[in-house]
Formats: sequence, C-alpha cells, structure tokens
Amino acid sequence: MSHNYHFETKRIHAGYSSADHFHSVNVPIYQSAAFDIDDIDRANRLWTGDEDGGIYSRVGNPTGFILEQRIAELDGGSAAVAVSSGMSAIAYTVLLLGEGGGNIISSSSLYGAAQEALAHFFPKFGIITKFVNNRNDVSEYESLIDDDTKAIYLESISNPNIEIYDFEAIAEVAHKHGVPLIVDNTVATPYLFRPFEHGADIIVYSATKGISGHGNVIAGLVVEKGDFEYSRERFPQFHEKSYKIRDLEGNPRSPLEFAPSFPLIAQLKVFYLEFIGAVLSPFDAYLVLQGLDTLAERLDKQVASARKIISYLENKEEVEWVRHPEAKGNPYKGLADRYFPNGAGAVFSFGFKGTRARIKKFIASLEVVSYHVNLGDVRTLIANPPETTHGELLPELLELAGIPDNLLRISVGLENADDIIADLEQAFEKAFGED
Ligand SMILES: *Cc1c(COP(=O)(O)O)cnc(C)c1O
Repeated sequence: MSHNYHFETKRIHAGYSSADHFHSVNVPIYQSAAFDIDDIDRANRLWTGDEDGGIYSRVGNPTGFILEQRIAELDGGSAAVAVSSGMSAIAYTVLLLGEGGGNIISSSSLYGAAQEALAHFFPKFGIITKFVNNRNDVSEYESLIDDDTKAIYLESISNPNIEIYDFEAIAEVAHKHGVPLIVDNTVATPYLFRPFEHGADIIVYSATKGISGHGNVIAGLVVEKGDFEYSRERFPQFHEKSYKIRDLEGNPRSPLEFAPSFPLIAQLKVFYLEFIGAVLSPFDAYLVLQGLDTLAERLDKQVASARKIISYLENKEEVEWVRHPEAKGNPYKGLADRYFPNGAGAVFSFGFKGTRARIKKFIASLEVVSYHVNLGDVRTLIANPPETTHGELLPELLELAGIPDNLLRISVGLENADDIIADLEQAFEKAFGED
C-alpha cells in the first residue's frame, strides 16, 4: 500500500487488491490443487521465484498468499508463511533453525504442547532445549548461549500465568551472540504486541486463537523480520547452495542468495512445505482473514471486560489470587505498561480456594462460560490447565511452569461482561452451597 496506514486499516486491506481478483470484495477461496502455468518460460520463472504465483497448493495457495502478505504487513515483517496449525509453525521454525542439531534457550512458561515438544520431542531430532529458571534474568540466557545455540524462544504473553518478558533486553543478548529471537505472539496477537519493534527476529502464531477469533479453524503463521544476519558457522543451511533454488540460468543458489530479505520463510516454503506439506488450506486461510477483519474491536472489548472480571474475582473470598498484569500487585505491571499499550490481553488465571470437588461443581455449574480448551474465542472459556491444556507435562515441568492444581484459566469473549460475572457468581454459589 502507498501509505503506512494504521493497524485497523491494514488488517482489512493489506495484501489484497480486488482488481486482481475479478473485483471480488472478499478474498476469494482458491479451491484448486494446481494452477495453470501457461508456457515453459513462465514455468521457469515460477520455479526460480522470478515470478510469484500459484503452482501447486501444497507449497502455497493464493488465498493463503494474501493472508501471508497481510500478516507480514501487520507485524512489519518482510514475509510470512501460512501453515496448518500453530504447532506446525513452531515445529517448522525450530526444526529449520536447528537443522543438523543444536540447542534452543527458552523460558519454561510455554503453551503445553510447545513446552513438551521442546523438552521431549525435538531432542529426537538432535535439538535440545535449555530452560531458564528466572525468565527475566538476562545473564542466565547469556550464560546458556554456546556455539550450537540456534535461537531464544519466548511467548509474548505466556499462558496461563500471563508473564511478560523484558523483550528488548533479551533480544540484545541474543543478537550480541548472533542468535535470533523467536516470539510466539499467539495470545497477544499483532494488535496488542508488535514483537519486531522490540527485538524479535521471527514470530510464530497459532492463528487458531485470537487472530481468527471464532474458534472455527486450526491455523498457524510464521513471520520473518528480514534483517537478521545468519552466520555461516551457526547457520550453514542459509549459505548452502541448492539446485532446488537455482537461478534462471540453472546455477544453484543459497537461501540467502535466493531470497535475501526472507531467507527463513523461503526455506520454509521451498523445503518444509514441499517435503512435509503442512500447508494451510484455502478455506481455512479465508476464515483467518475474516477473523482478522475484526481483531482490534474484539480485543479492545475483551481487554475491557477482562479488567472488570479481574476486579470482581479479586474481591471474591473464594479466590486465592488472580494472575494478570491488571491484577493488584502483579510483578509484570511495569513491563506490560511498557510493551502493551493496548492492554496485556484477555486471558488470565486465578487460584480457586476450595477442593477439587468444588472446582468440579463450579465448572459444571457455569452456563455462559464454556468449558473447553481454546483461547481468544468470541465465547468466554474456562479451562483447568493442570488436567487439560498442560496435562501432558510431567509434574516437574508443571511446577517449573508455575501451574498449581487449583489454577483455573479464563479467556474472555464478547458476551456482556456483567453476564459473565453473574454466571461466575451463581457457579461460586453452587460450588460452595450445601450438597
Ligand atoms: C494454541 C497455541 C499453540 C498451538 O497452536 P495450534 O493452532 O493449536 O496448533 C501454540 N502456542 C500458543 C501460545 C497457543 O496458545
């Protein structure tokens, strides 16, 4: 677009011109496995990346291309790739940076499946993770970096405890040692947090959550900022020439020669989508685009409602604590104010003061708030992470992640906030009433 428009404008218009798509106001769903090539010269240009366009939908589809362009513009990145889940976004990124083996440095407060994958699954591919104990101790990250370190990995708003990092300080340490910073920006979404403005080099998303926002699609995105310098020693895969990314004369090129401003996304498309194939389907890309249209309004309302519900819970005798930067005495308030001017999201957790039997009754009594494991949905959701979202974690990982047995997590939706409070209130009454 010709002007640097505001977020609210770009999330509706970026990456799309209706004149190029039969004047369709909505982004069309290109439900086609393959695309006509026209002639052999064009085939060569498509295969060498000298011309953009659909070839075969496993390596990308026009509906997805528009989503990729839109998210790249919203985050201020050079390119993005749309994949079929948040976990495939994470796995592709970690496996690519760690090709041949190495280590990742991460905080331990992560999405359950991401934490489990880093701790026990990626090691099967020679990529181990060193978890820091103190998430904002920059010197601890630095002391863990060695010649085989491939990335520092953080979540911009961790769930369920809503911890916030000093991103710029951690990025500085990473860059000093030639290591990129990956941020999972799922819970924040690009509306609440812009990781590239605070030192991140790569963003991964589960677009299943707030970005799409309606709980009707599983999707993931990887966004690259484009100015990280991948050294030959630490990241040979960025420098190795391959015939697969040859130029028009047939000379093999390296990813950095093939796509100097997006060498990571290029490899994810040319090798990972090509050989593993977790591409986002055109219909799912369309659902994510539709969700993005209302992202700012949804989050503004959810953040305002969360504020109200948090202050209700803080005054409840049956609540031991509430964890969110908006809660009284929260240690992350300062960092949240600095990095999240539009609010630190609408997901929070609280400690239920009562037995497991009462938790069970409380959850079963809810009428408006629904019990299922998603986030950022239009519906208000409650979950008990120790037995669900983080249920795969062994007790010691749960403890490291700071998730006690009585923790309940809420993701605030778009219902009337007073109705959500009324629903919680009647459920508390039932949970603590006579049997
Ligand atoms: C849900 C989630 C994921 C995984 O996303 P899927 O789309 O379910 O694969 C990764 N990170 C965070 C923070 C999440 O909330």
